[in-house]
Amino acid sequence: MKTTSALLIVDVQNDFCPGGGLPVPEGDRVVPVLNHYMALFGERKLPIFASRDWHPATTSHFRDYGGIWPVHCVQGSEGARFHRDLALPEDVIVISKGMDPSRDDYSAFQAIMDDGVRFSVVLKELGIRKLYVGGLATDYCVKESVLDGLRHGLSVALLEDAVRGVDLKPGDSASAIDEMVTAGAERMNFSQLQADPPS
Ligand SMILES: [Zn+2]
Repeated sequence: MKTTSALLIVDVQNDFCPGGGLPVPEGDRVVPVLNHYMALFGERKLPIFASRDWHPATTSHFRDYGGIWPVHCVQGSEGARFHRDLALPEDVIVISKGMDPSRDDYSAFQAIMDDGVRFSVVLKELGIRKLYVGGLATDYCVKESVLDGLRHGLSVALLEDAVRGVDLKPGDSASAIDEMVTAGAERMNFSQLQADPPS
């Protein structure tokens, strides 16, 4: 059977979890939930992607160089590592973004694989038509990834029980979810996915 679904785990890195450089409140709570999702996709032999923010030490993305964010996810640092309890399978496809010091790169669609191939190209090669998205943070990288997925003509499901937001302004995450749904994303949680599993 042709694979048409894939799981995308957005930026579940130490710096986005409590204790990190740019902690998302309760960011680590997505880890056990995403582990369930990964097990389900793994059983069904469906591809699992993990994006990571992967910045140089000097980038206009950081506050010190004109951006709005504190230092986070610097290439090779402990903060840039995936959360240690995130049970990434051996065949996970890691994609990296944020390497260009002049760009923010919130969306996983700006990410590339180690060999330089763009995420959208890999999806096309694998025949992926539907993307299930969870991770951090709802109001930035998850939102931009979901919107870009829809722009690329994919069906996109937002895994609502597997995301957390920054909420720089209170309500940002709720507005982000509204924006994604208005753009065509489907809201989903783990029990709904179990009842209607991906293929
Ligand atoms: Zn970043």
